Amino acid sequence: KMYESKISLPSETMDGSKVRLMANIEGADESESVIQSRAEGVGLFRTEGIVLRERQALAKEDLQFEEYRRVVERLHPHPVVIRTLDIGGDKALPGNMFGREDNPFMGFRAIRYCLKNPDIFKEQLRAILRSAAYGNVRMMYPMISGVHEVLEANELLEEAKQELKDRGESYSGEIEVGSMIEIPSAAYTADVISENCSFLSIGTNDLIQYMLAVDRVNDSIAHLYEPCHPAVLRTIKAVIDMAHENDTPVAVCGEMASDPVYVPLLVGMGADELSLSPSLIPEVKFMIRHISQASARDLAAEIVTLKRPRLIFGRLREFYRSVMKDLVGERFLP
Ligand code: PEP
Ligand code: MG
Repeated sequence: KMYESKISLPSETMDGSKVRLMANIEGADESESVIQSRAEGVGLFRTEGIVLRERQALAKEDLQFEEYRRVVERLHPHPVVIRTLDIGGDKALPGNMFGREDNPFMGFRAIRYCLKNPDIFKEQLRAILRSAAYGNVRMMYPMISGVHEVLEANELLEEAKQELKDRGESYSGEIEVGSMIEIPSAAYTADVISENCSFLSIGTNDLIQYMLAVDRVNDSIAHLYEPCHPAVLRTIKAVIDMAHENDTPVAVCGEMASDPVYVPLLVGMGADELSLSPSLIPEVKFMIRHISQASARDLAAEIVTLKRPRLIFGRLREFYRSVMKDLVGERFLP
């Protein structure tokens, strides 16, 4: 395939602006596909499958550590961003472990669950800190609603380091910590959150769901799940701007980052990094290499003046086609 033949070329625009392409993975078995995709590391390591592997119990520290270490060692010196446990909502829980809730997407999940279950949370934090002794590990918290949760989680992180020190275990405490931005309240306070984080990562899958009040897994309202809603796009832009005011880099790790129709817009809005499934990296890199940062910025400026999702999508698709038509031939385009 045409895209694959170009994967060892750098991920930069025609006018020399770099956009780091990172991989989304869920386990150590995917390390090879990350290497093959020429990703510059892992931008989202989902850990629910690892932590919940034991079905009715949570995986112990050593088991988690071994899995993280395999990825970190294999990808060294590239960074690996391990996301702490994001259970609940769409991430199925084994059996009835956490009880039934009427509104699981807005329920006792992810960082909320971890902050109330410090033993389980610190078990994962210790495993992550131990794996950091083997390479370049970063960590991020999911479903953050405000900076207070980041600070509270960081306190538990300090406790986890102390526990490892007391045990005489080898670990690295020098890891960068970031927050996912996927709840509107976090997006709106991204200025404060970014002051307290090494990086932000926008999770568009949940951000769209929570901004538009549209369940991301409910087929009967799938037509309302609209990445091109102006509120979503303004929010993404605002988060990037707020973080950049504090010199905090911003990644996008939701599905939008893997769609070449949206990629020019995200680049034009200033996203520093995109994280996506390894298999989709070649095509996204191809897109990045055939646009200029200047034209992407113009596109982003034009898009914010448009009011209707359909018109916005139409403009993005038109831009995509204008870039691709001379490269692949019009008849191959969607
Ligand atoms: C997101 O919400 O966009 C995201 C990347 O996380 P997940 O899809 O795992 O919820
Ligand atoms: Mg999410």
